[in-house]
Amino acid sequence: MPAPIFADFKKLTAHAKDNGFVFQSSEIYDGLSAAYDYGPLGVLLKNNLKEYWWRSMVQLHDNIVGLDASIFMHPKTWKASGHVDAFNDPLVDNKISKKRYRADVLIEDHIDKVEGKLNKEIAKAKKRFGDAFDETEYRATNGNVKRYQGEMDDVAKRLATAMTDENMEELRQMLVDLKINDPESGKADWTDVRQFNLMFSTQLGNIAGEEGKLYLRPETAQGIFVNFLNVQKSTRQKIPFGIAQIGKAFRNEIVARQFIFRMREFEQMEMQFFIQPGTQMEWYNKWKETRMKWHRALGHPAEKLRFHDHDNLAHYADAAVDIQFDFPFGFKELEGIHSRTDFDLTAHMELSGKKLQYFDSETKENYVPYVLETSIGADRLFLATMSHALRTEMVPGQDDENNVRDVMKLHPAIAPIKVAIMPLKRNKPEIVEVAKGIFDELRFKFDCQYDDTGAIGKLYRRQDAVGTPFCVTVDFDTIEEGENKGTVTVRDRDTLAQTRVRIEDLVGFIGPKVDMAVLLAAGE
Ligand code: ATP
Repeated sequence: MPAPIFADFKKLTAHAKDNGFVFQSSEIYDGLSAAYDYGPLGVLLKNNLKEYWWRSMVQLHDNIVGLDASIFMHPKTWKASGHVDAFNDPLVDNKISKKRYRADVLIEDHIDKVEGKLNKEIAKAKKRFGDAFDETEYRATNGNVKRYQGEMDDVAKRLATAMTDENMEELRQMLVDLKINDPESGKADWTDVRQFNLMFSTQLGNIAGEEGKLYLRPETAQGIFVNFLNVQKSTRQKIPFGIAQIGKAFRNEIVARQFIFRMREFEQMEMQFFIQPGTQMEWYNKWKETRMKWHRALGHPAEKLRFHDHDNLAHYADAAVDIQFDFPFGFKELEGIHSRTDFDLTAHMELSGKKLQYFDSETKENYVPYVLETSIGADRLFLATMSHALRTEMVPGQDDENNVRDVMKLHPAIAPIKVAIMPLKRNKPEIVEVAKGIFDELRFKFDCQYDDTGAIGKLYRRQDAVGTPFCVTVDFDTIEEGENKGTVTVRDRDTLAQTRVRIEDLVGFIGPKVDMAVLLAAGE
């Protein structure tokens, strides 16, 4: 059987819309760029992904507790965190197309292009040498590969230095030196590069002017830092311990494309782990491993996930790595793991004048804890999950090459609909009645859907396309005298195997297969 074909980006976005997963915001007004709405199935899938994250953090760890802080925070928060002064992206305009870009992203795209050429060389050599191919040796000796690698390293280093030094002239010079053209117009007529702050601001109703200026939070983390003592004291947690939060964040992204990958309003799932200074590398490595395992448990294969060390560290970090996912448009950041030192707590302590320290009752010492952060976008996780799940494949067990189906191979525990119940014949009242009765029962246990709006084959395809792991069908055997009376068929989405199960055993048969506990255990 040929390998399944994963959906390309165009197909993915169309599928998301047509099946009620994701819609463009305010579509009837031609949409608002970089804002999206989750439809009936999308909200179920997203909630399940959030639940998987929340339960693996909060429920499985007795030293991680939850928080739900408000989006608005005292404006000083953002001064202390560095966002007012340093949450900038280098903006550049193309004078001909009038399009706006992030200079660093244009340069990163250039590096990706060179990497593409390098990978092509490797693939060619692999084909030529077959089993005898030694990639490490080839990388170390082949002239072209070494040249490409050298070019990539040089550009990455130059970019990192320019970003750290906030050297906007140097970024512009890089665009010129590397002959980077506007992807839109193909022309290289660039304006100067300048800093652009990504925070959205708004105004308090009862205070005029600068005094009343508020920001929509650009990350959820600060709500955790300012509550560090409230949480620690009220829960009597001892270091090491973590605080987890899921919530909206807002960034005025310069270039917002790639669907829900880069939005101006999005959702983050962040966990700040408070530790003893000096232990950060130990925890950094531990959380890297833990988080990667969590992703793999969802069914994402090793070749679609990789670590990517940051070339230029943010002002608050002493180590940082991304978990990148192979999206339909290439490997991009899905999650960040950052060793944030005591930067945030110290900054808040200085600006607020409040002591944000931890008293270690064993050593009788007071100290400002260090922080290890894991931060993932719920929307990017949604996109990653959907992009790997959605594929076109030949229907298992049917040799006919024309017999293909679109199927979303979601882990059963996160599928939006767990069970679809359908009568084999919708004009046979006895069958319909039993099917509706089963739906009435199962809906207390699972997200279910009753569907009698088409022929059974069509209904199965419809459920495959949205990832429903089980379809329960009521047929003539269910109602007629005989050994199968009172049984129904349960069809498995992946194998298409049909098992006859007694109606009263359905919950016991399906329940363990869609239980989040299975996923949680695999991801721990
Ligand atoms: P990028 O480099 O892609 O802009 P970032 O490094 O600024 O991302 P972080 O500040 O580390 O991102 O945020 C943590 C996570 O939040 C990211 O790994 C990503 O999953 C998510 N995220 C950040 N910005 C966006 C956005 N504009 N839209 C959707 N998700 C986002």
